[in-house]
Amino acid sequence: MDNQADIVKATATDANLPSYEEARQSFDWAEVEKQFSWYATGKVNMAYEAIDRHVEAGYADKVALYYSDANRDEAVTYGQMKANSNKFGNVLRKLGVQKGDRVFIFMPRSPELYYALLGTIKIGAIVGPLFEAFMEQAVRDRLDDSQAVAIVTTPALLSRVPVADLPSLKHVILVGDDLQLGAGQVDFKAEMAQASDELAIEWVDREDGLILHYTSGSTGKPKGVLHVHNAMIQHYYTGRIVLDLKDSDVYWCTADPGWVTGTSYGVFAPFLNRATNVIRGGRFSPQDWYGTIQRYKVTVWYSAPTAFRMLMGAGDDTVKQFDLSSLRHVLSVGEPLNPEVVRWGLKVYNQRIHDTWWMTETGGQLICNYPSMDIKPGSMGKPIPGTDAAIVDDNGNVLPPNRMGNLAIKTPWPSMMRKIWNNPAKYEEYFRLQGWYVSGDSAYMDEDGYFWFQGRVDDVINTSGERVGPFEVESKLVEHPAVAEAGVIGKPDPLRGEIIKAFISLRAGYEPSDELKADIAKFVKEGLSAHASPREIEFKDKLPKTRSGKIMRRVLKAWELGLPTGDLSTIED
Ligand code: ATP
Ligand code: MG
Repeated sequence: MDNQADIVKATATDANLPSYEEARQSFDWAEVEKQFSWYATGKVNMAYEAIDRHVEAGYADKVALYYSDANRDEAVTYGQMKANSNKFGNVLRKLGVQKGDRVFIFMPRSPELYYALLGTIKIGAIVGPLFEAFMEQAVRDRLDDSQAVAIVTTPALLSRVPVADLPSLKHVILVGDDLQLGAGQVDFKAEMAQASDELAIEWVDREDGLILHYTSGSTGKPKGVLHVHNAMIQHYYTGRIVLDLKDSDVYWCTADPGWVTGTSYGVFAPFLNRATNVIRGGRFSPQDWYGTIQRYKVTVWYSAPTAFRMLMGAGDDTVKQFDLSSLRHVLSVGEPLNPEVVRWGLKVYNQRIHDTWWMTETGGQLICNYPSMDIKPGSMGKPIPGTDAAIVDDNGNVLPPNRMGNLAIKTPWPSMMRKIWNNPAKYEEYFRLQGWYVSGDSAYMDEDGYFWFQGRVDDVINTSGERVGPFEVESKLVEHPAVAEAGVIGKPDPLRGEIIKAFISLRAGYEPSDELKADIAKFVKEGLSAHASPREIEFKDKLPKTRSGKIMRRVLKAWELGLPTGDLSTIED
């Protein structure tokens, strides 16, 4: 808990925004609600607020979406987004899909994905987004668990949809050309061409189902998290104050909609705030990503530590080949953001990378580095206005500053999950301490009210009587010039309880050796502490990661102990 030395001050422009303290004091969720048309009309639907409302306000010709990949290059206006999502709503209605039914989307990013997602919501059905890379078992588990009635997919992915095993799945809607349709299959393009672009939107209750997201699977079998339309209050608000989105912004969230970041902040928050949203298909490469920022003059960029670490690994010279001067606000989510990455971002992008903490279950951002706040590299920031967080012990007692414990959020907040699908007992577990949502993450709060992530509660390492958060060790490891990424686990040890074992992937140009191991261990010992230094180091070409880019420490641990690895449905190739 000694990594607080360097503070990155808010810039002059950021400091013009309301201060964190001011914003907290004057805050009232009821005031936020007044921003929505349903506040006056009583008619609620997320997709209406995200798209149609702006069209009615005269923004039909504003670009809602820039989409590009190797083969396509398109701009979709808010007017076109309204018309196409209406059409898809009509396609579903014609098939008999009803309010509350689950409709899954399993396809690569494309404009059609966004029409389908918003169209599903417009008729009050619950949308379930899946990563295109999921294999058959992952698709089966999710469709079966949720009893989905329809899936939107492509001919290339069809073989991974085990229709025969899914009796509730009635419609397979195929997005492709020259289709040979089988039983129960529907041609997306042909139906869209015939469908009316006028739709009677299903007005729903704020507590009606919106989206069913399966979690990343970092700690175990993914959970089906249900969110409701009411979440829009938080999406809109955090889009405004955390992403700092303005009408003039060109915003790029790099997350796939298969992960909650790709919907809450890749669809809802930007559209509710009437921003222009950039979607880039295809695979990651530093050149491609920097080229995307340069081409669209991206102003606000939301990405993840794994991406920033890979960009850092690609080197500073790559950055210099591009004009990134349009950037004005950069954010990160999904994993702890290593201080080294923050320092590097400041150096090469001249940007403060703002960490944000939240989870699939929380639906929206909760602990953040507010734009006007000073950043303490390595800290997640402070709870956003309208919410409260604390570190509590296992009995719900609030712990004083600088004590590690359960990161908990005071209930409720607008985008809180409403259900774990088919698993009420799991749902109750999060709320087991009266008045609190228990996150499963371990953290501490410093005297200034900044929160510091330590690891998943189950990943905290007990070595020779000391509790060590794996994140601190991993962050020190990636400061070593040879280390690209690091995953740290506790390995049972008869003498010390547990010892620290680090799995490390090396940067280009470095070769594994015993000398390097010794040097890395020494680096942590001198830079952090003797007890936090890994007693064992193993080099790996690649660390196991989820599709959303998180290091899967449970898989490292299972490998180490020779135990079954458990559900691997979300692992990268
Ligand atoms: P599963 O719940 O299936 O095990 P998961 O927890 O990784 O997977 P997500 O909901 O995608 O699924 O991720 C939420 C978790 O990601 C948080 O509980 C936290 O551990 C981690 N996380 C997210 N943002 C941050 C952050 N800014 N700093 C540290 N950790 C973060
Ligand atoms: Mg989780």
